[in-house]
Amino acid sequence: MMYRQSTEHRRVMLIYTGGTIGMIKNPLTGALDTFNFDHLMKHVPELAEFDYQLSSYAFNPPIDSSDMHPLLWAKLADIIAEYYDRTDGFVILHGTDTMAYTASALSFMLKNLQKPVILTGSQLPIGVLRTDGKENLINAIELAAAADSDGNPKVQEVCVCFGQQLLRGNRVTKCSAENFSAFKSYNCQPLAVTGVNIAFNDKILLRPTAGGVFTTHTQMDSSVIAITLFPGISRKVIEHVFSYKDIKGVVLRTFGSGNAPRLPWLTDAIRKATEEGKVVVNITQCQMGAVHMGLYETGNQLRLAGVVSGHDMTVECAVTKLMYLFGQGYPQEEVMRLMDIPIAGELTAEDDTNIL
Ligand code: ASP
Repeated sequence: MMYRQSTEHRRVMLIYTGGTIGMIKNPLTGALDTFNFDHLMKHVPELAEFDYQLSSYAFNPPIDSSDMHPLLWAKLADIIAEYYDRTDGFVILHGTDTMAYTASALSFMLKNLQKPVILTGSQLPIGVLRTDGKENLINAIELAAAADSDGNPKVQEVCVCFGQQLLRGNRVTKCSAENFSAFKSYNCQPLAVTGVNIAFNDKILLRPTAGGVFTTHTQMDSSVIAITLFPGISRKVIEHVFSYKDIKGVVLRTFGSGNAPRLPWLTDAIRKATEEGKVVVNITQCQMGAVHMGLYETGNQLRLAGVVSGHDMTVECAVTKLMYLFGQGYPQEEVMRLMDIPIAGELTAEDDTNIL
């Protein structure tokens, strides 16, 4: 990893982790290989036109985001903490495949964030003529430098900037392996749209609690699993997973508004797990909308078995939130309480439908 600095005004730090944005075609194999940060910068000479003070920090070697890991999320949080006082905004260049997980994890790890942390990447390498990487990178830097009339950062949360939209980091999901609009935030409006002008959606931008001091909480506990229900799911598999002693939390991806088959062995397995101290969270397999367990008997039976509602959280968010809460060492009841409420803008509270 390295740190360098150039000139002038608002200070934006680029943290390069890897991903397609910094890849180049290997002429021998035809596969995409990573190349270093200097090469990346050479392909975006436009950056010299910014009146910002750009600094950089590069992973060495850069990684494909499939190789991301909670320890690397912690490393990103540590880098941000180290340069926090000397930087106005951070841009993380990251592969798209697991960007939603990293964005969610960082949104929990960075407490009382008062500066933008914006993840971006691209579908085509930056050296390719039709690349989306240049536009994404330039937009992300501009958003990371944006300030209000008092000079305070316009954005004070973890976001993803992609395909002309700034999206809340813990609300995004990679929805396309093909389109330049690779990310969607189905349950939360964009925070900003980068058209001819940058239009911010001011009323939904997060602000830290008054007087809150920026800190990092980087401990994560990976003893969690996500299960997608489907008709005909095996009793043996379900009973095995729910009784497995090393699992602390289960994200259950249910049907529609949070419904599951009415199979006594399924609710028995869940009830036993919650009685043993596990946390089972209900999120829907639908991309849009939320869980309402009281709506049908097929959902209510889960509530009675001790399942907590994940409301409209994405699977990426629910998994990393559980990892984070268990990582803080909270007991079962506290994890259940915090899964049910927003702690970083990650879910829509029942009376807060204005961001839908
Ligand atoms: N495999 C790449 C990654 O996630 C894909 C991308 O960057 O879009 O690192």
